[in-house]
Amino acid sequence: MKNVSVIGSGFAGMSAACFLADAGLSVTVHEKNATNGGRARSFSEAGFTFDMGPSWYWMPDVFERFFENFGKNPGDFYELVQLDPGFQMLFSKDDILPIPASIEGIYEVFEEIEKGSADKLKKFLSEGKYKYDVGMQELVYKPSYSWFEFATGSLVKGVVKLDVFQSVSSHVRTYFKDERLVALMEFPVLFLGAMAKQIPALYSLMNYAALSLGTWYPKGGMMKIGEGMETLARSLGVAFRNNDDVKRIVVEDGKVVELDSGDRSDLVSGVVATGDYHHIEQALLQPKYRNYTESYWGKRTMAPSSLIFYLGVNKKVKKLIHHNLFFDTSLDVHAKEIYESPQWPTEPLFYVCCPSKTDSTVAPIGMENLFVLVPIAPGLDDTPILRERYYEIVMKRMEEICEDEISKHVVYKKSYCINDFKADYYAFRGNAYGLANTLRQTAVLKPSIRNKEVKNLFYAGQLTVPGPGVPPALISGQIAAEQMINYLKR
Ligand SMILES: Cc1cc2nc3c(=O)[nH]c(=O)nc-3n(C[C@H](O)[C@H](O)[C@H](O)COP(=O)(O)OP(=O)(O)OC[C@H]3O[C@@H](n4cnc5c(N)ncnc54)[C@H](O)[C@@H]3O)c2cc1C
Repeated sequence: MKNVSVIGSGFAGMSAACFLADAGLSVTVHEKNATNGGRARSFSEAGFTFDMGPSWYWMPDVFERFFENFGKNPGDFYELVQLDPGFQMLFSKDDILPIPASIEGIYEVFEEIEKGSADKLKKFLSEGKYKYDVGMQELVYKPSYSWFEFATGSLVKGVVKLDVFQSVSSHVRTYFKDERLVALMEFPVLFLGAMAKQIPALYSLMNYAALSLGTWYPKGGMMKIGEGMETLARSLGVAFRNNDDVKRIVVEDGKVVELDSGDRSDLVSGVVATGDYHHIEQALLQPKYRNYTESYWGKRTMAPSSLIFYLGVNKKVKKLIHHNLFFDTSLDVHAKEIYESPQWPTEPLFYVCCPSKTDSTVAPIGMENLFVLVPIAPGLDDTPILRERYYEIVMKRMEEICEDEISKHVVYKKSYCINDFKADYYAFRGNAYGLANTLRQTAVLKPSIRNKEVKNLFYAGQLTVPGPGVPPALISGQIAAEQMINYLKR
């Protein structure tokens, strides 16, 4: 039996491993960390269980499609609940906008804020549905080796409707005037790692995902998805090797022959590398086998990094719901400080996830589990003093807007930032979400899923196609596995 090694046990790695094993290959996942899940790992301390990374479960159809490939469905591994409200945007202590789960409820919210906007939203979302359907069926599952892959009848006919050349920002502004509605409609593309001004309006499909398909939560936390995928992978025969930091990919005659982890090495028929692309190429491969140079990487637009605080609070916090977006300062200024002149933000927007509002298993009774995230430019200096300064800034604003005392009640606190992303995942410039989905970094223009010199080496994960986020990571693993399977059949 041919044996394939997968580097990394994040969503992309586990997805690839499942498809490879299902095709009859012998698969080993090599993971440098002690636990699996990559950026979506979790940890438990002082009675609290924290998801370390993703917290938004969007596009449930992608997860269903993933598990269906193996005759399963998400419900076999975790229980999903739809959040209602899906999330809320906090503009000030007196101006909080909860977004209901039902589409009728969302229309009412729009109409109340801006007369006539409910009808506009219907039209916007029907275009978004078209983009989502075409995107899911004809765009994202492609390896993106060449633009010819996209020259299908419906894509060519629909190219105008797909809105590739206008930005999400100008698209949104042709529909809505009220700045709160504009912020609400522009926020979903932040998941793609760039601002609405830089993202093609094709990605207004994210609004359809956010508002029409709903915001979901796997009971027990996002780590339940990874646990489910690991259970599935093991049932298909995948072996996991943790604390296994791959140091070198050994190539002979244009093919990977061996993976070297320092104290041991394995002979392999192929490798799917899902660790951060930059690290895999620059640290594990000889220069002649790299697809890209250091200067290529220096010119990429990376998605932001994050300063995160995992907090345990010994009381219930007023006004918070499961997902809370603090939009009480200027998004434009913060965005410039991320993308145009990278620096620590003067007045950052931030996000607070409070899963204990939905799930009694993630915090002791009567307490709250808070995950506070401040998006920041990758590559900034990261020091304990800076982290503490921002802790004080966001805590003060959270207390003011929630009209509640929180800091005195914090019984557990841990911070996580650029240096941790580098140490834990070898993240290029300490990025959190990989590479931004700007027009110049879409599809064929992304770092390629295949190594151009080494035939049995493929890449997957948030720095290659289709892009950052949990659903794209699942898809990326599938595409890379299919390419490997086709190669090994030849
Ligand atoms: C703070 C944060 C919040 C996020 N929020 C959301 C959200 O709400 N919703 C959403 O959809 N997405 C979200 N994302 C994005 C999403 O989590 C990621 O895009 C996705 O999990 C990436 O998966 P991956 O498999 O590509 O990479 P990773 O999860 O990084 O997995 C790669 C793995 O490779 C391992 N590795 C690297 N090098 C080596 C080596 N040499 N040897 C062995 N192992 C190696 C790493 O340790 C890691 O475990 C968030 C990300 C972060 C960081």
